[in-house]
Amino acid sequence: MAKINENYLKLKAGYLFPEIGRRVREFAQANPGKEIIRMGIGDVTQPLTPAVIKAFHEGVEEMASLATFKGYGPEQGYDFLREAIAKNDYLARGVQLSPDEIFVSDGSKCDTGNIQEIFGNDNIIAIGDPVYPVYADTTVMSGKTGSCQSNGYFDGIIYMPCTEENGFLPELPTERPDLIFLCFPNNPTGTVATREVLQKWVDYATKNQCIIFYDAAYEAFITDPSIPHSIYEIEGAKSVAIEFRSFSKTAGFTGTRCAFTVIPDELMAYDSDGKPHPVKPLWMRRHTTKFNGVSYPVQKAAAAIYSEEGAKEVKAVINYYLENARIMRNSLQEQGYTVFGGINAPYVWVKTKNGLTSWEFFDLLLGEANVVGTPGSGFGPSGEGYFRFSAFAERANVLKAMERLKKI
Ligand SMILES: *Cc1c(COP(=O)(O)O)cnc(C)c1O
Repeated sequence: MAKINENYLKLKAGYLFPEIGRRVREFAQANPGKEIIRMGIGDVTQPLTPAVIKAFHEGVEEMASLATFKGYGPEQGYDFLREAIAKNDYLARGVQLSPDEIFVSDGSKCDTGNIQEIFGNDNIIAIGDPVYPVYADTTVMSGKTGSCQSNGYFDGIIYMPCTEENGFLPELPTERPDLIFLCFPNNPTGTVATREVLQKWVDYATKNQCIIFYDAAYEAFITDPSIPHSIYEIEGAKSVAIEFRSFSKTAGFTGTRCAFTVIPDELMAYDSDGKPHPVKPLWMRRHTTKFNGVSYPVQKAAAAIYSEEGAKEVKAVINYYLENARIMRNSLQEQGYTVFGGINAPYVWVKTKNGLTSWEFFDLLLGEANVVGTPGSGFGPSGEGYFRFSAFAERANVLKAMERLKKI
C-alpha cells in the first residue's frame, strides 16, 4: 500500500495567493469591463535590463555552436558567477568569502525549503510572524511540527510575533530554538534590521549553538547606508548563519530563475553526541545529488548584473520600484493610514482603518476601488488588521490606484 507523507495533510488548505486569485476571478466575472489594478503578488513587472539580455543572448548563441556548446555544468554554479558574487556582493562590503562557499541555485524559495533536509527533525524552528509563508509550510512538510492550532500556529514551531509595539522586529525567543529564520528587509512588513539588531541575533545564536537562516532576497532595496546588506557584515556571523540571496527581486529574474545560498566553512552543526560537523559538505552533497545546476545562459545573464553597465541598469529598476513605494507611502499617509516599510523594501505595510480585518479590507478595496493587494493575515496571525501593497507595478497604475483609494 502506498503511504503518503502525512505531514502534507497538516498544511492549511488554500495557500494565500490561490485564494486571492479566486476572489479576483470571481469579481472580474461578475463585473466585466472593470479594470483591476494588481498590487498583490510580490512579482516584478519591469523587463530584464539590456546588459542582462545581451549576456543571455550570448549564452544562447554559445549553446548553438559545436566549439562553445555546454552540457552539464558544475552543480554549484560556474566559477565566473560565484567569483563575481564573492567579489561584488561580499568583498565590496568587507566580507571575505571563497567562491566555493557560494552555491548557485534556481531559487531562494527552493533553497529555504530544501535546507531543512540536512538538519534533523528534532530541531526546533523559530519563525517570525508575519513572514514569507514558505518557511512555516516547508517546516511542516519536513515533519518538524505537530498539527495546526485554531490560531493558525503549528505545534512545535516557535513563533516570534512582529507587531507595531516591537517595531515589527522579532524578539529573542524565551524558549530555545535550534534553527531561526530571519528575513530582512522583511516580506511583508518592509522592516530592516540594524547592525545592533543583527549582532544581538548572532550573539544569541553563538551562545545557544543555533543556526540562523538569513533570507536577504530584498537586500538590493536597502537605501539607508547604515543598514547591513549581508548578515556576514556582523562579527561572528560566519559561524552561525546561512545566507539566502536571489536575483529574482534584485534583477527581475523571477521568471528566469537564479539565486544562491552561502554556507561558510566555519559553520557547524552537532550530532546526537554533541560533536560538531561542518554544514557545507552536507549541503554540497545534497546540492550535487539532487540538483544539476542552473542553465548556462541564465548564469551568464545573472553575472551581467555585476558589469558596470548591468549594475547601473539594475539600480535604475530598483529605484523605479522604490519611487513607486514612496508615492504609495505618501498618498496612503495623506489618506490617514498608518504606514510602515516602503523605504528599504518594495513593500508598504498598512494598518487597515476602522478595525477591518485584512480580508475585509481586501474585499473593500477590490469591490470599491478594483485594486488588489495582499491581506496581512495571510503571512501569519500577527498580520491580521494589516495589508501589504507591492511596489512591483507600473507607475501609471500606482498613481491610478492611489487616486481610486481616496474615493473609498
Ligand atoms: C521573492 C522571495 C524570495 C525569492 O525566491 P526565488 O525562489 O529566488 O524567486 C525569497 N524570499 C522571500 C522572502 C521572497 O519574498
